[in-house]
Amino acid sequence: MTMSIRFISLLMMLHLVLMVPVLGQRQTGFVSIDCGAAENFEYTDDSDQIKYSTDGAYIQTGVNKNISSKYSYPNNPNLPLPMSDLRSFPEGKWNCYTLRAGPRGSLHLIRAYFLYGNYDGENKLPQFDLYVGVNFWSSVTFKNVSEQVTLEIISMAKSEVTNVCLVNKGLGTPFISALELRPVNSSIYNTEFGASASLLLFKRWDLGAIINGSGRYEDDIYDRIWYPYGSSSWDSISTSHAINGNNNGYRTPFEVMRTAAKPKNASASLEFSWTPNDPNSKFYVYLYFAEVKTLEINQLRKFTISCNGHLLCGPLIPSYLVAAAVSNLKPLMGHEHRISLHRTEDSSLPPILNAVEIFEVRMMDAFPTLEKDVNAIMDIKEAYGIQRNWVGDPCEPKNHTWEGLICNYSNSRPPQIVSLNLSSSNLSGVIASAVCNLLSLESLDLSNNSLSGSIPKFLSEMRSLKILILKGNQLSGFIPAALLKKSRAGLLKLSVDAQNLCGSDKCKKKLNVFVPLVATISSLLVLLIVFVIIWKVRRNIQPDKETSNPIKEGTRVASKKWQYSYAEVLDITDNFKIVIGKGGFGTVYRGQMKDGNQVAVKMLSPTSSQGPREFQTEAELLMTVHHKNLVAFIGFCDDGNKMALIYEYMGNGNLKNYLSARNYRCLSWGRRLQIAIDAAQGLEYLHHGCKPPIIHRDVKTANILLSEKLEAKIADFGLSKEFKNDTRDVGSSINTNDQGNSEPAVMGTKGYLDPEYYKSRKLNEKSDIYSFGIVLLELITGQPAVRKGKESVHILDWLRPELRRGDLSKIIDSKLQGKYNACSVWKALGAAMACTASASIHRPTMNCVLSELKKCLEKEVPGQGETYIVPPQIYRELHDLSETYPMDDESITYPFPR
Ligand code: ATP
Repeated sequence: MTMSIRFISLLMMLHLVLMVPVLGQRQTGFVSIDCGAAENFEYTDDSDQIKYSTDGAYIQTGVNKNISSKYSYPNNPNLPLPMSDLRSFPEGKWNCYTLRAGPRGSLHLIRAYFLYGNYDGENKLPQFDLYVGVNFWSSVTFKNVSEQVTLEIISMAKSEVTNVCLVNKGLGTPFISALELRPVNSSIYNTEFGASASLLLFKRWDLGAIINGSGRYEDDIYDRIWYPYGSSSWDSISTSHAINGNNNGYRTPFEVMRTAAKPKNASASLEFSWTPNDPNSKFYVYLYFAEVKTLEINQLRKFTISCNGHLLCGPLIPSYLVAAAVSNLKPLMGHEHRISLHRTEDSSLPPILNAVEIFEVRMMDAFPTLEKDVNAIMDIKEAYGIQRNWVGDPCEPKNHTWEGLICNYSNSRPPQIVSLNLSSSNLSGVIASAVCNLLSLESLDLSNNSLSGSIPKFLSEMRSLKILILKGNQLSGFIPAALLKKSRAGLLKLSVDAQNLCGSDKCKKKLNVFVPLVATISSLLVLLIVFVIIWKVRRNIQPDKETSNPIKEGTRVASKKWQYSYAEVLDITDNFKIVIGKGGFGTVYRGQMKDGNQVAVKMLSPTSSQGPREFQTEAELLMTVHHKNLVAFIGFCDDGNKMALIYEYMGNGNLKNYLSARNYRCLSWGRRLQIAIDAAQGLEYLHHGCKPPIIHRDVKTANILLSEKLEAKIADFGLSKEFKNDTRDVGSSINTNDQGNSEPAVMGTKGYLDPEYYKSRKLNEKSDIYSFGIVLLELITGQPAVRKGKESVHILDWLRPELRRGDLSKIIDSKLQGKYNACSVWKALGAAMACTASASIHRPTMNCVLSELKKCLEKEVPGQGETYIVPPQIYRELHDLSETYPMDDESITYPFPR
């Protein structure tokens, strides 16, 4: 391998981009708050030119205080101005700053400052917690009264509003001195946890730094603060020339990159280490390089980077005056982390390092409570002037749910309030209408208060409500008929004061007897209904062999609850307000169910040949198919000529769009494998977990949808493709066979369609395997199934010659920038080629493909940056694979090394 190829490859790995002057851009989108400063006070801090404003616009609670003069100016002339005052929170357990800082999904650096300075005269150091929204950020503790604690986190916004909350844990009054938020390019500081994790700053070092004190540089567009760091065994080297390159968005400032450290002993390694408090903590380390010396023609600076003896990256050669960034792909865990830069044998110069950032992973996987529920509960709080400690998020953190609330939690949706107990809470006035906005409320207890007025009708319209306790109030009038009906039907357990609800003695008596009777009958009915539903669900999941058609009378009865009227569809989609896609079936709209869950509503186009009967039959089949990797079916509408299917909403759309060149977000190799595994699991279930088996017939990246957390699910399964009228489909017309019966023509999408099925018209599960192989190839190469141009080129036609050449760097998606394990990729390529064998008999089953993909994921280990070497074991593995899945001559399966 020649030096130049290696060098180009290294450049790819280091993702080098030019550095742009940024002075003018500084402070765009910055939020800089001097907490506790006098109202309307705005100023520019002399020391760092940051424009601060006071905090009145961001928080309503707390009191302004000044630190003791002993620690303030003029006794402490170097004290930054924002540190001299603070806002403290003697009231309430949670107090939150609300920052409006950009759209959901944007990345922010948030920095909080704390200086106690004996502001309360008690000389007692408090301890409290800090949260970003509902997720724990850090505990705040102090070593002494004058210590300034600075905490920084890089976090992805979960909504347009980011809350920074101080939480009193009974160890002193929380307070804060200053709070800053800086927008950061959202393509950097990626981790394998995606948006579920934030990065807590552990260290940020400027190596070989010439200045003293912290470096907060004008040309750092993200306003990072760099601390000089050195060692007695290192020397400094520097340049005064401009550094070229923004290291792919990291944009380390010139002042930081112009200096570097190198070991004094030229043959020694450059090393640094840290010991985490918790060996389970996960770390990401970002290393920044730029050559600052002009090397002689015979000089070479080349080194590898390892952690605790395991290769992380390299060998690499820093480019002259070009900034580059390198980080670990998998988080580092353990008792100690020792990063070592070793020069290679052919290197004539020692390693250098210009700057380092070390972050600890903070999982941010809790969702805030559903916004509608938050608004409703806040309205209730206001309507009754509730004095409980109801601050922060109602349902999160889980161990701090608001008193009287029970919430329902799920891994993929925001928590919702399911129970509200305001018994004996001194409530007066009428029953607040805001209650009906708690759409998932199952239990409401308002007993033993002084509520008056009538029992509102809206209570009977609360679909989820199963328990309603109103006794011990001064309510008047009758129980609304609809509520009584629900109670009689056993759908609601109702507890009321009969004597307050009815004027006559006769009525009183009746009610006194009636209500307990209703309650007893209700309980029995509920049990009966639950029993019937369980029995039906079981029957639907495992239909017996002789009656393998899952559409039975029983299903039709059960399906009522899956059925929605057109009026309800209008309501769900807010009159078809948001279009999220268009397919052969018709237009797809985004909607929201009454319980707050997001859904996708597919409206059947009026031009479809599908009749209502067939449509309902199809829809009922969907109800019997459930798997975590199939997009969940929620219901259907079959109202006159209006037909719709309702599915769970998949927040990240389809895989095709996600992989497209237009999408700036890049899926890591590990994530691509996980997506392939998810999709394979969904297909495996359709093929082997359903009776009769379901063949998808249209497996493609557009039919693989991604959730908010990038979990993949198969869409568009179980529907007969003949009622689609998509012109992109091959053979969308109905074909007539020899017997004169109508049968569907060949269905599928160009590029994914199994050639054997196309020729023979005989469909089997292996047709799906072929299409899945194409999906795998798209995940690996980032190329579409058919590349459009003057002439369309199928992915296999493009790939075969590349495989013969065996140069992985030409095959793999360049967006991965060399960050993958070559063994893992070769193995996945082998599996994809096996799936696309032209004879279906030679293709593996979904089971086999799944187990191969899982092995690929196991191989996806950190630090395999070199993309062009095919290690010898790859040949062995591909041979093994070919033995398991014999392949024909047409589909080349062995990548040949160069
Ligand atoms: P065809 O059905 O013709 O093969 P398609 O699969 O793209 O094409 P649809 O299934 O109707 O068509 O979906 C159209 C688009 O709507 C999808 O590509 C996807 O972007 C979006 N979409 C469909 N279902 C959902 C869903 N459940 N959640 C989020 N987006 C969806």
